[in-house]
Amino acid sequence: MFAFDNSYARLPDRFYTRMNPTPVESPGWVALNEGLARDLGLDPEALRGAIDVFAGNRVPEGADPLAQLYAGHQFGGWSPQLGDGRAILLGEHVHEGRRFDLQLKGSGPTPYSRMGDGRSALGPVIREYAVSEAMHALRLPTTRALAAVTTGEEVLRQEGSVPGGVLTRVASSHIRVGTFQVFAAREDVEGLRALLDYAIARHAPEAEGPMDLLRHVMAKQASLVARWMGLGFVHGVMNTDNMTISGETIDYGPCAFMEAYHPDTVFSSIDQFGRYAWSKQPDIALWNLAQLATALLPLMGERKAAVAEATEVLEGFRDLYAEAWTEVMAAKIGVDDMELAMQLLDIMREGQADFTNTFRALATAPDTARDQFVNATRFDSWYTEWQSGDPDRAAMLRANPAVIPRNHRVEEAIAAAYRGDHAPFHALNAALADPWRETEANAPYRQPATEAERVTRTFCGT
Ligand code: AMP
Ligand code: MG
Repeated sequence: MFAFDNSYARLPDRFYTRMNPTPVESPGWVALNEGLARDLGLDPEALRGAIDVFAGNRVPEGADPLAQLYAGHQFGGWSPQLGDGRAILLGEHVHEGRRFDLQLKGSGPTPYSRMGDGRSALGPVIREYAVSEAMHALRLPTTRALAAVTTGEEVLRQEGSVPGGVLTRVASSHIRVGTFQVFAAREDVEGLRALLDYAIARHAPEAEGPMDLLRHVMAKQASLVARWMGLGFVHGVMNTDNMTISGETIDYGPCAFMEAYHPDTVFSSIDQFGRYAWSKQPDIALWNLAQLATALLPLMGERKAAVAEATEVLEGFRDLYAEAWTEVMAAKIGVDDMELAMQLLDIMREGQADFTNTFRALATAPDTARDQFVNATRFDSWYTEWQSGDPDRAAMLRANPAVIPRNHRVEEAIAAAYRGDHAPFHALNAALADPWRETEANAPYRQPATEAERVTRTFCGT
């Protein structure tokens, strides 16, 4: 069914624990991503008949299932051992020379589960599926969702006993900043070197060593975070174990897109101090990259010189990010004028303007954009200046989507799924699959939440 070639499983034993997923009681389909299946050279019909594989009840031929080891800084605090506590890497499917991790999430306890049950509630499965697929349609680097199933079992969470689910995630790899950190913390230089060679071969074949890999990851992350910012996306848990070496967005936990623009926007129920607020994300990316640099130091030769060079490399982040962010905002307003762009954001904050709809209106029907503001006085004078810059409307249409996964719509899909009704989830996915034009069908998904619908808190999958 899959064309497996499991390179991670050929790394030293201490990189993972080889084990099968834990079977579940009675699997049921929530969604199979047929488009993604076809892109991977897989037959949707065959996958449809293999629900037992997506539930973890059968290991497909050629798989070599394992739970990966990693560590990480969570909200700035060091956790010496994390790892796949509720996930199993089935193996790597290779298609047209490209390698894809197939991972089950919610597949039962592993040696890295710590206090957790190794399972996932259906809600987080639905959220990750919808939002990661939306990200892909929005043309951002991201892990993908191939399948979502129910388990027929209940899991105990804050909100009580809820149905369990398993997500099948596809990623260009699951190597995280935290994967480097775990070997560095254990002073396992040999392991660190093996991981470096592996990561370079898989993601940056042109890189000549650890410093080059650092530069490579930094460039990817600067671009990624700038693009998150341009969509009003708040990742919510930018811990070092949730930052990939590949540059793909990963681990859609308490993430959400903001509606009314405010730079301090936070959704995660556990982010009490706003560490991962929208506007903090570039700084946090740099902080995480500094942890990557620290982990790579033992491979960088003489320590003093290495620290000096790594510091210099990291100092380049601000310029790299500024360049990426300028490009994002220039496309969003169709004029390469950062001052003008920042003025607009400030006016939007004051006017409580919907982030997505304001930029979209400027692209499609500029004279209606003022309707997005509680008070449009400042906007009106900005508008005149903006118009005189002869904005590039084509660029704006490519940069400003009509549809994003609005939080209340995601929550609505989750609530319905908990009642056994998957129709709202499918309708949401259909709207998110084509975010670049206004249609009658996607109209309900373009509306900001009403006061009563608004969801300001999101919960982690744990
Ligand atoms: P996350 O916040 O989702 O990135 O997860 C952080 C760590 O907690 C990872 O090592 C996860 O594998 C682990 N984890 C999260 N939820 C569970 C769970 N229900 N059971 C076991 N481990 C979990
Ligand atoms: Mg994680």
